[in-house]
Parts: sequence; C-alpha cells; structure tokens
Amino acid sequence: MKFGGTSVGDAACIRRAAEIVVDAANDSSLVVVVSAMSGVTNQLIVAAQQAATGNQHDWDDLPVSLREQHFAAAQTLVVNESRRSELVAELDQITSEVANLCRGVSLLRELTPRAHATISSIGERLSARLMAATLCELGLDSVVVEATEIVITDDQYLQAEPLMAQVRERCKERLRPLLNDRVIPIVTGFIGATVDGILTTLGRGGSDYSATTLGGALDADEIFIWTDVDGVLTADPRLVPTARLLHEISYNEAAELAYFGAKVLHPKTLRPVVAAQIPVWIRNSFAPEKDGTRITSIGHPTRVGVRAITAITNVSMITIGGRGIVGVVGVAAKTFQAVANVRANVLLISQSSSENDICLVVDSADAPQTLKALRDAFEKDLVHHDVEHITLKSDIAIVAVVGEKMRGTPGIAGRTFSALGRAGINIIAIAQGSSEYNVSFVVESGAMRDAVVAIHDEFKLHERVAQASGAPD
Ligand code: ADP
Ligand code: ASP
Ligand code: MG
Repeated sequence: MKFGGTSVGDAACIRRAAEIVVDAANDSSLVVVVSAMSGVTNQLIVAAQQAATGNQHDWDDLPVSLREQHFAAAQTLVVNESRRSELVAELDQITSEVANLCRGVSLLRELTPRAHATISSIGERLSARLMAATLCELGLDSVVVEATEIVITDDQYLQAEPLMAQVRERCKERLRPLLNDRVIPIVTGFIGATVDGILTTLGRGGSDYSATTLGGALDADEIFIWTDVDGVLTADPRLVPTARLLHEISYNEAAELAYFGAKVLHPKTLRPVVAAQIPVWIRNSFAPEKDGTRITSIGHPTRVGVRAITAITNVSMITIGGRGIVGVVGVAAKTFQAVANVRANVLLISQSSSENDICLVVDSADAPQTLKALRDAFEKDLVHHDVEHITLKSDIAIVAVVGEKMRGTPGIAGRTFSALGRAGINIIAIAQGSSEYNVSFVVESGAMRDAVVAIHDEFKLHERVAQASGAPD
C-alpha cells in the first residue's frame, strides 16, 4: 500500500491512513510505502536551489518549519511518552540534516544532482517515522525501512531506474523476514540508492513507482495506491469537473494516461507489474469505503473507443525545418541521436508529410540543452541552409485521447479534430502512437482546458455507457 502526500498531509490524514493499514493487516501481510507530507518535497527543492545561490537567509527557516510541522503531528498521533520522545528525537535529527546539507550547498554554491536528491528525500524520511509510530500506537508492530537499503537503482540521481534483480534480492533479505514476523515495514517512497549506497530519487511523484517496484519484487497479490481522488477519472477533475470514475482500466490505458500527464500515476508506475499481471488499485484514502479503479491486463473488456483524456503542460516543441531536409537521408536519425545524447525525454514526434519539418516535444526542463544539442548537430546544415531553422516554442501543451479499444475503431481522430474545430481550437501538431492507444496533439497552452473539455463532451465521457456484460464501466 502506498500513501501519497495528501494522504499523509497532517495528523488526521496519517491517522486515517494508519487505520486503513490496520484494517488490511487483519487478513493480509503488507508493506507500506509513504510519500512526504504534501508540499514538503517542493519546499525542500526550493531551499536547495536557494542555497546554491549562496544566500543563507533564503532557506534557513525551512528546518525550523519542518520540525514544527512534524513535531505537531507527532504530538497528536503518539501518546505513549517513550515512543513519542524517541520519534521526536529522530525527527529532530533528520530535520537538522536539512540545515547541514543546505549549508554545504551554500558554501559550494553548487547544487549537484546527488545533493539535490539527498535534500529532496528528507520529507519521506520524516513521514515514514510518523507512520510507523502511529501504527505502533494502534497496536501493530511496525518499523521504518529506508528505501536506500532495498530499492537499488542506477546512478541517474534524480530519475533513477530500479535494478529489479537486485531489488528482489534485497526485498528477500530485508522485507520477507519482517513480513514473516508480522511486522509492517514502512518504506520511504521516492528514494533509492546505487549499489554503492549513494542516495537516488525516482523522479517527482516517484513514490507510485516505489510501490509497484516493491510490489513487483515481492510478487505481491495486489498493490493499492491511496490518493486524494476516487480513482482514475475520465479526465483531470481540476480541468473537467464532470469527469467520471473509471472502475476498471487496462495497464496500457493507465500507462498511456500516466505518460501524458495524468498526475494520479507516475509515468513508470505500471512497468514493474505488467509481466506478473499484478492488479493495481487506485483508491481514495479520504473515502476508503469507495471501490476505486482497478488496473489489470484486460481492463474493461466490453468498452469501445475513447476512455479518457489527459493533458500535459510544461513541455516545449522543437521544430527542425527547411526545404533542404526534404528527402535527405539521416535527418531523423541525426535528430534523435542528438536528443538521446542529452537524455531528453521525447513525448511526441511529428513529421509533416511534405517532410518540410520534424517537430518533437520534450519536457521544458530538457528544452535548452536539447535545442543546443540539435543546433550543434546541424551546425553545417544550418550554415549551408539545408536546414533553415531550429526553433523552440514553449507555450504549448499536449492533449492525449486514450483508449485501448481505439485500435481499429474508425472515426475517432475525425471526431476529435471536428470537436476541436467547432471549439475554434488551433492544432499545432498531431501524432498517433503506433500502439494506437492514443491520439495526441499539440495546442497553445492557453487552449488546453477548452480542448480537453471539448473532447470530453464529444465522446460523452461523463455518461456511463450501457454494457452488454452489465459490468460497471
Ligand atoms: P498523491 O499525492 O496521492 O500521489 P497526486 O497529486 O500525485 O497524488 O495525484 C492525484 C491528483 O491527480 C488528483 O488530485 C487529480 O487532480 C490529478 N489527476 C490528473 N489526472 C487525473 C485523472 N485522469 N484521474 C484522477 N486524477 C487525476
Ligand atoms: N514526495 C515526492 C514528490 O513530491 C514523491 C511523491 O510524492 O511521489 O515528488
Ligand atoms: Mg503522486
């Protein structure tokens, strides 16, 4: 079971989460993964960045406010005095690490990826202690297990990739004995470590991925991701208030939604569970009586066509264009080699049929170095005007229409683009993944919300569809 930031956001939330665990622990053995209390990771990252400017006053309040926030939760949650003083001592020690780390960064005036990872991991280390102590308070045996001991990853410190064989081994050594003794391990989400023990993080929102990595490594029967919405909805409820809960979706659909920005799941969440077909539930920790969404290999077998719409912002489009690229062999290869060299994540690629330009969309954070890499790679072509321009456009968004059964259903693209046309929305680029689980397109970021709403309406996603099988959609 994984609890997200809002699900451990304050003492009342942690208590509610702990009660969910107590209930489940009656008839199954389980591992708990926690995120930082909501907002904490953001604050830590801001502090780390401020420290790198060398100006101490920008960040020195943070250790104090973190200590207050976590101490306050500890006071409310833990009555037993010796347990509480032990907990408070640990929280105190971890928060003082923030001050030491920021001081170090500030002296060096450099925020290395390793330091960035270490500072941003503090929130999970704090919340895990609160959760373990709360469970002990409720009569269960529970201990904190640092993810650095079990989630072994490569050395991309801020986007680390778990090494499954080693994670499996570590889980066997470290978690199995606890489970056999009916002790509930509370693992710090988001965090991993290289084989040499250097701390890494799995990327923002990465606790979902921690949960499925551990679930996969332990051959779990089920994985529960507890969050602040009822499950996976037909669209982000902040964009489309009429968005409806999907009771069951497939791994492919969920992966596509996560990849194209549905924040409810980290993009890599489903990877560790697909092969073993472990069902993943998304449920609301604020309404645990509700069923939530079940993600399985088949999803909802009778459903046809579009299931959900998603959108992703903070992305930038790079266009490589010019008459000279028509028919020139290797332009695409050179483009993608340059992009791969800077490890930029390409979200969408589109090439116009006239071959006058190739455009690709990357995270805005990766855009400056991607643009530079492309300008370097095409330096000669630019001089000779074979390539006329390489440009960057940042005020855009990708909207993706997702559904496994879209494959082989004609007319979906037509309806999508007619709906956008009627809403007066200009489409900048279009792509259809070879999987045919999605059609995605680029619009101006200002038009994103209207685009999502227009398509949601067009496919009447707010309505439940009558099913031949009678199963809820
Ligand atoms: P947690 O802290 O539990 O990991 P997140 O904030 O990362 O929670 O993810 C939950 C949020 O994802 C929801 O509050 C919702 O606003 C957003 N979201 C975006 N797209 C969807 C969708 N299709 N279905 C459900 N929630 C979505
Ligand atoms: N706390 C981390 C973040 O905010 C990881 C997570 O919440 O999943 O990115
Ligand atoms: Mg999340």
